[in-house]
Amino acid sequence: MTFERREVTRRSDGSRRPLLSGLLSDGTATVRFTWWDPPREGIERGVVLRAVGAEVREFRGRPEVTFTWKTRVAPASPAELPRVDSEEMPFRLVQELRPSDEGFRIELRIVRVAAKTVTVGAERRVVHEGLVADRTGTIALSAWSDFGLKVGEAVRIAGGYVRGFRGRPQLVLDERSSVVRIDGTDLPDPAQLLRAPPRSIAEVEEEGGGEAVAVEGVVVGLLPPSGLVYRCPTCQRSVRSGICRIHGQVDGQPDLRARIVLDDGTGALTVNANRTETEKLWGVTLAEAQARLRNQPDPSLLEEEILETLLGRRLRVRGAGTKDEFGVTLTPETIDRVDIDLDSAAEELSARLGERE
Ligand SMILES: [Zn+2]
Repeated sequence: MTFERREVTRRSDGSRRPLLSGLLSDGTATVRFTWWDPPREGIERGVVLRAVGAEVREFRGRPEVTFTWKTRVAPASPAELPRVDSEEMPFRLVQELRPSDEGFRIELRIVRVAAKTVTVGAERRVVHEGLVADRTGTIALSAWSDFGLKVGEAVRIAGGYVRGFRGRPQLVLDERSSVVRIDGTDLPDPAQLLRAPPRSIAEVEEEGGGEAVAVEGVVVGLLPPSGLVYRCPTCQRSVRSGICRIHGQVDGQPDLRARIVLDDGTGALTVNANRTETEKLWGVTLAEAQARLRNQPDPSLLEEEILETLLGRRLRVRGAGTKDEFGVTLTPETIDRVDIDLDSAAEELSARLGERE
């Protein structure tokens, strides 16, 4: 459960009455609840309760639960939560999933999965992140339990839920979710998904990005910060004048990046190239860039050099795209140079740049 605590004034005698309200979930559904005169202590987010004699009412077509003086509420163990019979859960498709959906079954192909250690509060936890797909689309996956997922496997998942993460839905699995291996003959194969031909940037923009986006276009510019940047050793945020906005004064670690503006004639998007990708595209390593900076201590010259190298180059980029008010940003998995006739590329580029002025 999640909740907030507040007090309301009773109309009859003006006395203050404590109230707890929030959301309760048993894994099959989530309902709003109101708890009159709750205990002062012992209620925390995630606690499991057993309530006998709760009132259930309907509000705007959704059930709501109220705990009154007649309700007996006691702590319970997570094992007492109903073993949700996954056979009763409806089947859903990827394109139907929306944030806060739960209590469904879904059949998916594992396109990508990798373990990652993250810090949650004071705890270090392993999360298995990846990408899953059915024939209607792809969705990011975040599994907080190890289900031994492998790329290429077809699975039937029950008891997961959907949350919004960086503007895109993400399927979350935890220890209450179940994963069963299936045949999955009607599910797309991962290679096919990752090989999909590039689509127009206008289309990608209209769909708000996507988990496995492929586009092809010409480099028309770079956005700041590009070139040599310094990062906080703790949180990886870029550091300005030795100051991280979270960790204060830090010893910034050098890094290379390029925020590439790619245009395919239908629209433009930003490709966030990391150090390895920038080194490969630019042909200059981080160490070499630092050496150049010692001779010529103006970092903006490095950015200009990168721009000179990349401008007009045709790239095919695959990766995950998110959209915000500045448009679509791609976090690339692969960036490939597409060789083209240089004269026609230059013409195409000048025509495009001309169009924008
Ligand atoms: Zn920091």
